[in-house]
Amino acid sequence: MLVTQGPQFNGKASKRLHVMAKPIGAACNIDCTYCYYLSKQDLLEYKKGCSPKMDDDTLETYIRQYIEGQNTPEIIFSWQGGEPTMLGLEYFQKIVAFQKKYQPVGVKISNDLQTNGTLLNDEWCAFLADNHFLIGLSIDGPELLHNTYRTNKAGRGTFKQVMKAVELLHKHKVNFATLTCVNNLTSQNPLEVYRFLRDVVKSPQMQFIPIVEQKTFRTTAPQKWQPQDQLTQGDARLNPYHKDSVVEPWCVSAEAWGDFLIAVFDEWITKDIGKVFVQYFEASVETWMGRKNPLCTLGEICGKGLAMEPNGDVFTCDHYVYPEYKVGNIHHQKLDEMAYSPEQQKFGFAKSRNLTTQCQQCDYKFACHGECPKNRFIRTQEGEPGLNYLCAGWHKFFSHADKAIAYVLRMTGNPVAHGQYSDERGTLQVRRAQAFPTKF
Ligand code: SF4
Ligand code: SF4
Repeated sequence: MLVTQGPQFNGKASKRLHVMAKPIGAACNIDCTYCYYLSKQDLLEYKKGCSPKMDDDTLETYIRQYIEGQNTPEIIFSWQGGEPTMLGLEYFQKIVAFQKKYQPVGVKISNDLQTNGTLLNDEWCAFLADNHFLIGLSIDGPELLHNTYRTNKAGRGTFKQVMKAVELLHKHKVNFATLTCVNNLTSQNPLEVYRFLRDVVKSPQMQFIPIVEQKTFRTTAPQKWQPQDQLTQGDARLNPYHKDSVVEPWCVSAEAWGDFLIAVFDEWITKDIGKVFVQYFEASVETWMGRKNPLCTLGEICGKGLAMEPNGDVFTCDHYVYPEYKVGNIHHQKLDEMAYSPEQQKFGFAKSRNLTTQCQQCDYKFACHGECPKNRFIRTQEGEPGLNYLCAGWHKFFSHADKAIAYVLRMTGNPVAHGQYSDERGTLQVRRAQAFPTKF
């Protein structure tokens, strides 16, 4: 299911899968307050003998299976943590050597690496550039905002080290994207964050991640919540600032998430469209045109990206690394068998099968699909459980962006397949005499 059957490649059916490998598990050299992964060290019982570092046998087995399990012109490896650069440059040189050993003729192998950037230096960046790695660099905005939560183990902010990494990535022409957590603080400063990423970091691609964690997330797996514990949309205890909030205090509220996206979107669409790449906005434009959303969180089904721990344990998704969602281990099952397994298919289709009535009837279902099931822990006003915590924010953003996206698509000769102003509805009369950008 996460394997897409497409056209032929090399005379056989095309076959693709994707895994986020965590060769150092949850181990990290810094200690961000909101990290959802640090607690996995206890949950997955690393302390009971599982080394947090993927050994050579597991690494080679993984690389071989990952390549053998696919039949496409390009195979993309994703390395995440914890902090993978703690493994040292030699470890990644070994990864590239294993990849070359198993690389089929005519197939390109690519890598992406998620990092906090604090350990990068000239040698690292030269290697990353030479081997065409795509880097995902975590940075939360200007110094004060970044340093509030992204601290080292002594509690000091990591901003200066990350900005050094930005400098090095530019210097060595390493391809990179920025990953910015939208939390209770950054959400209140959307333009400061956006302009900083655009003008100072000169981010080639901006990815924003809403921070949503229930207080029980360290021990309770997603969707193992009791329906009776789910609060109704609009309940004050869903606000991170409430004294009895059910979410962690650093989370973004649904409203603040919508307001953040709207503020950034308005600046982007009036000044930067075509020049600055903001992943959510580019993806939204695609969905308005009638294409599939390339982002899993806003797509129709899950299950397209497994996660693998250092001992070879494989889980349904990076956000579902809990014992209940383990699908196997590469020392006992092949990766592609796990990817095709009935369990994984069930997990993937559950995203669309379990939509609330509110989502099924929503004007923006085409763009949202109920968002990530990890965040579906509230009730609709009618009392139905399983609505997304961020629903109010997403709906506010989509309603706001609808007209502007339709306008831009029409002005550029593209179809408007969805939304209140779709070609079918024909309700938007675009007059070419109206100067662009106008207030939408
Ligand atoms: S659970 Fe969330 S993060 Fe995982 S595949 Fe589904 S939408 Fe994506
Ligand atoms: S905006 Fe809300 S109601 Fe609409 S699809 Fe998304 S989560 Fe469901």
